[in-house]
Amino acid sequence: MRLLRKCECRYTLNQSLETCNYCNHAFRTAYPPKFSPHDKYAEYRRRMKKEAKKRGVL
Ligand SMILES: [Zn+2]
Repeated sequence: MRLLRKCECRYTLNQSLETCNYCNHAFRTAYPPKFSPHDKYAEYRRRMKKEAKKRGVL
């Protein structure tokens, strides 16, 4: 799996680059956290959706 990384201005798949030639910031892994800490009801919603699907509501 190729690692997508980002700086302040762009994304890159070039693993040999440590810092951006344009903004001079270091590249960091670009993957966001799987679940947003702000969306604390996401798990609840997913469960409801799954339940609804099982019952043929959706
Ligand atoms: Zn940059």
